[in-house]
Amino acid sequence: ISKRMPIPKAHYGGRHTVSLLPGAGIGPELMKYVKEVFVFAGVPVDFEDIDINPNADNDDDLDYAIASIRRNGVALKGNIETRSTEAEVKSRNVALRNELDLYVNVLHCVSYPGVTSRQKNIDIVIIRQNTEGEYAMLEHESVDGVVESMKIVTRPNSERIARYAFEYAKRNGRKKVTTVHKANIMKLSDGLFLEISRDVAKEYPDIQHNDMIIDNTCMQLVSNPHQFDVVLTTNLYGSIVSNVCCGLLGGAGLLSGKNYGDHYTVFEPGTRNTGGKIAGKNIANPVAMLNAAVDMLRHLGHKHHALIIQNAINKTINAGIHTRDLGGTATSREVIDSILKHIKIQSN
Ligand code: ADP
Ligand code: MG
Repeated sequence: ISKRMPIPKAHYGGRHTVSLLPGAGIGPELMKYVKEVFVFAGVPVDFEDIDINPNADNDDDLDYAIASIRRNGVALKGNIETRSTEAEVKSRNVALRNELDLYVNVLHCVSYPGVTSRQKNIDIVIIRQNTEGEYAMLEHESVDGVVESMKIVTRPNSERIARYAFEYAKRNGRKKVTTVHKANIMKLSDGLFLEISRDVAKEYPDIQHNDMIIDNTCMQLVSNPHQFDVVLTTNLYGSIVSNVCCGLLGGAGLLSGKNYGDHYTVFEPGTRNTGGKIAGKNIANPVAMLNAAVDMLRHLGHKHHALIIQNAINKTINAGIHTRDLGGTATSREVIDSILKHIKIQSN
């Protein structure tokens, strides 16, 4: 099969099969809610459940998960915990993205009118290089007490992420792309990323382009976020900027993130947290994972079901049925019950 051939999504008798990776912490309980909502709404999607043992001393589980995603084309995922700080134990999350070449992470940060937050009416799209940069996982202690960590920036990956950002802007009627970097210090690596984004920008004369240092970006995001439209950045800065944005508009429990490559797509909560401390207490916000599930339905072409569930989520949030992370008192269960109620109202 040529590298460019699209891999078909698993699709039997009008139903889709997708890989489900619950991960650790609150992942499994959030996946139960997704399944419950899907069954209630009559969504024609079946799940292939895949558990990854984070403490396994081999990669069999990970290989199995990757084979499943290759077969189905699409996955919904919680965070896989990598507790070990041993250099040989690689992050399974990073390994999975790299193996599947999921080179784009897209986080659409839009405010919910019903959520009290530090900033109102935010609408920023963060497009993050998802497979290299500071996440190359190439660290070693060259001599005792001296650790070297390699940050990898390549022309092909910088170019395709820049192109993705500008194409995204064009397709979605966006006006401006801001490249976020630290090229004043990392002159070669971030310098290349910035240079390539400037080159690609020239091909899109209708879209404004500027750039900003990561430190200043964090300050500007907090004080004046409305100046941002599409943000294009490297892996680690993308993680930081994503977390700042999520914090600005309501925290870790709301937004979903998408991981794209040329062949496969993985949907997950935007901030990729494990939520170990709040697991099993009926207090986790189920919305971020449900939003990820809705993104997945849109991707699969199940527009009708996506819309019904999306409306039910929005009605619930905007009616003030909030878990603790949003300053409310509702349990996860109460949020789900409200969402089910709103699905039922729309189906009548
Ligand atoms: P990490 O997995 O990156 O270590 P944590 O699990 O510590 O992150 O999560 C960061 C913070 O976000 C914690 O305070 C956690 O309780 C909170 N959090 C993450 N996901 C949710 C959620 N779905 N609902 C409520 N709080 C959440
Ligand atoms: Mg954690």
